[in-house]
Amino acid sequence: MTHYDVIIIGTGAGGGTLAYHLAPSGKRILLLERGDYVRREKDNWSSRAVNVDAKYHTKEVWQDKNGAPLHPHTNYYVGGNTKFYGAALFRLRKEDFGEIRHHGGISPAWPITYDELEPYYTKAEYLYHVHGERGADPTEPWASAPYRFPRVQHEGRIQQLHDDLSANGLRPFHVPLGIMLDESNPRKSRCIRCETCDGFPCLMHAKSDAQVIAVDPALEYPNVTLLTNAKVTRLLTGPSGREVTAVAVQRHGADEVYSADIVVSSCGAINSAALLLRSANERHPNGLANGSGVVGRHYMGHVNSVLLAISKTPNPTVFQKTLAVNDFYFGDRDFEYPMGHISFVGKFDAVTLSAGAPPFVPGMTLDIMAKHSLDFWLTSEDLPDPDNRVTLGRDGNIVLSYRPNNEEGHKRLIRKLEHLLQHLDMHPRLIPRNLFVDTRIPLAGVAHQNGTVRFGRDPRTSALDANCKAHEVENLYVVDGSFFPSSGAVNPALTIMANALRVGDHILERLGARAAVPVEIAR
Ligand SMILES: Cc1cc2nc3c(=O)[nH]c(=O)nc-3n(C[C@H](O)[C@H](O)[C@H](O)COP(=O)(O)OP(=O)(O)OC[C@H]3O[C@@H](n4cnc5c(N)ncnc54)[C@H](O)[C@@H]3O)c2cc1C
Ligand code: SF4
Repeated sequence: MTHYDVIIIGTGAGGGTLAYHLAPSGKRILLLERGDYVRREKDNWSSRAVNVDAKYHTKEVWQDKNGAPLHPHTNYYVGGNTKFYGAALFRLRKEDFGEIRHHGGISPAWPITYDELEPYYTKAEYLYHVHGERGADPTEPWASAPYRFPRVQHEGRIQQLHDDLSANGLRPFHVPLGIMLDESNPRKSRCIRCETCDGFPCLMHAKSDAQVIAVDPALEYPNVTLLTNAKVTRLLTGPSGREVTAVAVQRHGADEVYSADIVVSSCGAINSAALLLRSANERHPNGLANGSGVVGRHYMGHVNSVLLAISKTPNPTVFQKTLAVNDFYFGDRDFEYPMGHISFVGKFDAVTLSAGAPPFVPGMTLDIMAKHSLDFWLTSEDLPDPDNRVTLGRDGNIVLSYRPNNEEGHKRLIRKLEHLLQHLDMHPRLIPRNLFVDTRIPLAGVAHQNGTVRFGRDPRTSALDANCKAHEVENLYVVDGSFFPSSGAVNPALTIMANALRVGDHILERLGARAAVPVEIAR
């Protein structure tokens, strides 16, 4: 059995970023990734291949709580789901780290404060090339440094919307985006600002995903090894149960075993929970590190909707995901509870609309709909319900049980947006008559999965301590989205990346390793 200093399971936002941070230490690091590299091919940018044929989704079949098959919209590749993400890289709000009262109940506090994570947010933004503008988002928390790169400009239709929303008293702002776009020098810019970004892998390697930004650079170090197609099936402990002594892997149909001083699970919130549950043994009868019983519980994935606002005004935007609105994040005069976040998805085309099967709009072809729609993405916080959970079926397969909660704020958010856009109709330049098509993202849409292996100070109510180390296992850490005790209402990836850097510092200290080369901070 080959022994390493650190084994990291999963190479997405959490695992990939951690590998990058640990690589310069000289410690022997093994990355185990169940997927392969995304093949670079024309289909990367085909709406049909990506959105209709779901070519890159796992073919694994899960079950919902009623035993019905669930085809999860998730991806197993080097870089994890960041290969496909929209690269909207938001910080949680400072208040999200404390307890917040919602219409549907309490969003619990985190065991760390925003101020503790802030330096790592700054480093993660720097590392992932985030383009943004400080001071424009009305709910944004304080930051110790400006963004490294300027905001990504709106195209005409979105700028028009921005101006109209501003004229109506809102404070729209530019989405912080992790793309390697140089608008001052388009000829040399790695990113070509195309229409197939959100949901698609980037053929140019110009999206700041975890493979391009973190895993590939980490592999430049001779002390870092990556095994692809290496699915971890179980973590084994020694007789005391206090230490992971072996990591069981299936690779190309063969069983292999590895060991390390420190083992980090970063399989994504659903798969990390499943791995711990599958690793139950005599000392851990309910699943590894699960004396509290919380492993797999409190699954959150946000309440998400796509809202198509279809107007007579054409929307020829290529890269649409540049505008967001947070004015209702914490509530409004007529609704005192948090509602959430409004932004955009990538521009839909007719092929994509055919996959989403939106309600038929009389008299309109999908092509006309696509050419006239503003394609909004609305995110609200769902609350951590212990009965929303990952369990294992009889064959060891993943079962995902989820009952939506805290929906009132989301419904209000949708109504706010509809009202606003209708109100904007008063404006001669805008929409003479809006038509809204509202689609709630189904359970299979697990893009924002989090919460299943929560961190906390009390081992009775959390599986991980504040450093994301398992309370009950001395050398086991979890650094994917599982650790969230509450989910906020902005996209999760930057928080996962920042936390991986934070936990990385702790692991380096524990290993007595020399500090990683610090990420330079722009000032
Ligand atoms: C279409 C889409 C758009 C998105 N857009 C945004 C966005 O704009 N902004 C944002 O913040 N977030 C976005 N997200 C969410 C974001 O991608 C995730 O929050 C983030 O990638 C989660 O990081 P993670 O480390 O928890 O897991 P992942 O990135 O999913 O990484 C988990 C890794 O573990 C591997 N793995 C799983 N099980 C095993 C096993 N047993 N053995 C070995 N390896 C294993 C997987 O193959 C994968 O590589 C989007 C997601 C999708 C799908
Ligand atoms: S070229 Fe730019 S816009 Fe197109 S997929 Fe890559 S990062 Fe996204």
